[in-house]
Amino acid sequence: MILPNKKQLAESEIAILNSIAKEFNVSIQPIYGTNRTIYAILGDERSPLMIKRFEGLDFVERIDQIQAPFKLMSKENNLAQHHVIIGEKVLGHDLVVIAGPCAIDPNNANLFVESAMAIKEAGADMLRGGVWKPRTSPHAFKGDAKSLDILCEARAKTGLPINTEVMDVHQLEMCIEAGIDCIQIGARNALNYPLLSAIGRATHDTAIKVLLKRGMHMGAINEFILAAEYIVAGGNPNIMLCPRGTQPAMDGYRNTPDEAITSLLKEKTWAPVVVDPSHSVGKAKYVPKAALAAISYGADGVLIECHSKPSKGLGDDPKQAITPDVLKKLIVDMRQVKAITEKYNV
Ligand code: PEP
Ligand code: MN
Repeated sequence: MILPNKKQLAESEIAILNSIAKEFNVSIQPIYGTNRTIYAILGDERSPLMIKRFEGLDFVERIDQIQAPFKLMSKENNLAQHHVIIGEKVLGHDLVVIAGPCAIDPNNANLFVESAMAIKEAGADMLRGGVWKPRTSPHAFKGDAKSLDILCEARAKTGLPINTEVMDVHQLEMCIEAGIDCIQIGARNALNYPLLSAIGRATHDTAIKVLLKRGMHMGAINEFILAAEYIVAGGNPNIMLCPRGTQPAMDGYRNTPDEAITSLLKEKTWAPVVVDPSHSVGKAKYVPKAALAAISYGADGVLIECHSKPSKGLGDDPKQAITPDVLKKLIVDMRQVKAITEKYNV
């Protein structure tokens, strides 16, 4: 919808609108109001270039887009019938829990495997573990490629599918080679469009899942959904959207919790939502309630940092990881909250 900055446009101005519209295979329909005539764009109005051309006209106040700017992620797309499946769980039907340490200690495989076994026993559906870590300081522990073998060993011992974050194409190739089940794209790379596309293309026609964290500084929900659109456009619809809190942080929390966007995401797109309460609130004692809140907002699952001995962990674990016994109770309670809140689905 084109809203001009005056009551009515001159013939010459309407001619300009029509000529742009023609280039993009749409047409312009005036809607006569009492105060102002506005101009509907009939047809596919999603071309960003066309919108910019209209916005650039000095007699145009603004453009209101009626159609969502994404195509594949829209509920109107056939992909809305697509289901993302983890083990035997179908996202959207069953609660899915991804849990594990923030970082794998490359020199202590046993500690990771011990956590993994306890996490499996607690009832998780997928094991997470950071092989490579994005760190603010270049002097901090940034992970080690040899942890990929440890992650695979834990999968062999527990039977759980595995998730890890990649930050570049080389790490992606190593993960695909190792038969990873789920690639995580972290908050720092959520706007790395070439990487998003490369992941979509490299996992095209595979059962590999992609968990996309919400970028730290993302505001508009469409920005998040469009980032996922890159992966799906690359060829992989096995996508999960993961709100994880945004910056600036809320006093006392690591980030500003954003699990409440789940309801909006689920209204705009078919993609399952898996909330990460750990990075959102950033302290183990706050995590269970944040996870329950996420489920009550309609999350299909959660991604939680969990370690059998948090104080011996690396990365975020000493501060953020809950223990497997807390996870076990939480899974029971999340199922209950899911059942209660489903009564309010409209
Ligand atoms: C993580 O999951 O450990 C992580 C680094 O997450 P984020 O990208 O959300 O900071
Ligand atoms: Mn972490």
